Amino acid sequence: MSVLWVLGAGQLGAMLKQAGTPLGIDVRPVDIESTETLALAPTDIVTAEREEWPETVATKQLATHSNFVNLATFPQLADRLTQKQWLDRLELATAPWFPVEADSTAAKAYDVLGERVLMKRRRGGYDGKGQYWLKQSEGAEIPEDWKGQAIAEQAINFDEEASLVGVRGKNGETYFYPLTLNLHINGILYASISPLERLKPLQSKAEAMLSKLMNALDYVGVMAMECFRVGDELLINELAPRVHNSGHWTQAGASICQFENHVRAVTGLPLAPAEVKNQSMMVNLIGVDLNYDWLNLQGLELYWYKKEVRPGRKVGHLNFCSGSHSVLESALTKLDLPEPYPEALQWLAKNLPKL
Ligand code: ATP
Ligand code: MG
Repeated sequence: MSVLWVLGAGQLGAMLKQAGTPLGIDVRPVDIESTETLALAPTDIVTAEREEWPETVATKQLATHSNFVNLATFPQLADRLTQKQWLDRLELATAPWFPVEADSTAAKAYDVLGERVLMKRRRGGYDGKGQYWLKQSEGAEIPEDWKGQAIAEQAINFDEEASLVGVRGKNGETYFYPLTLNLHINGILYASISPLERLKPLQSKAEAMLSKLMNALDYVGVMAMECFRVGDELLINELAPRVHNSGHWTQAGASICQFENHVRAVTGLPLAPAEVKNQSMMVNLIGVDLNYDWLNLQGLELYWYKKEVRPGRKVGHLNFCSGSHSVLESALTKLDLPEPYPEALQWLAKNLPKL
């Protein structure tokens, strides 16, 4: 029996392992700092829970394996510059942008992109880290160490943020989950809700966009597309060539979760459309201590990542799924979480479809 190795041993790797268990697949997440000699067999398969990695004893072994699925795609999407170039080449709508080069100036940025410009480091950014706002009103300049290292993006006055999680099999077939509405606070995902009737008119457009990308990259597995909704339009914010935080609700709310779909796709097992159950909501646990009192709430599933709790760090998530509006509403009123959670819980309550 082949092993599915995962480059990275964070929560995504752990949840891939959990999803592989009922399928009888031995999923082995590997810490990138591991110095072990891995017992890699030629028929094994390799995937990743992260889009980039340093060269280490562990990553060198995995990245030289001939069955590393999507190996060539990771550097393309991990660098925001080449990711944006892919979007432009495929004529997929995205926030207007330009590469920040040695001779780039803030004046040029304001001229080309408007008075609010968001610089994003090409590599390594996550949870809003690696961002730098240029505001004309504040006379901001481009710091030297951002030149050649970043892209500059127009500030988008979006109505809301939504993401699409899709999966593509080795034979090219694709399946998608319903669009998920996401709330970010300070650049970090706090809450998601799906499915939403009012996002349905955008579903086929979103699927066509992500299909175009996955097909162009001959991608296999789960990919997530984060979007800004501006009126009836979707602008792609960024892509993740992996399972994604905004798809965590599928663990509770779909017959096949994103993790199982990814495992099935990369190991060449059959894919099937996921049946979506009821209403789901997801709340990220960010910098908060574990509290088993949460388990008193009906409709709740707890995922605790066993990481040291630090401010701003994702240490777990709560999934809620129920066919009863009042169960979900009451969970939101009973959840006792510190600032800025009241905003996130109110946002969920506001978006929760009324029966
Ligand atoms: P992730 O943790 O999803 O990888 P990230 O830190 O890599 O996130 P982005 O997704 O690019 O970075 O940005 C984080 C958040 O910042 C977005 O979800 C959005 O709320 C806000 N943001 C990003 N780009 C823009 C933009 N051009 N205009 C306005 N807000 C933006
Ligand atoms: Mg993002």
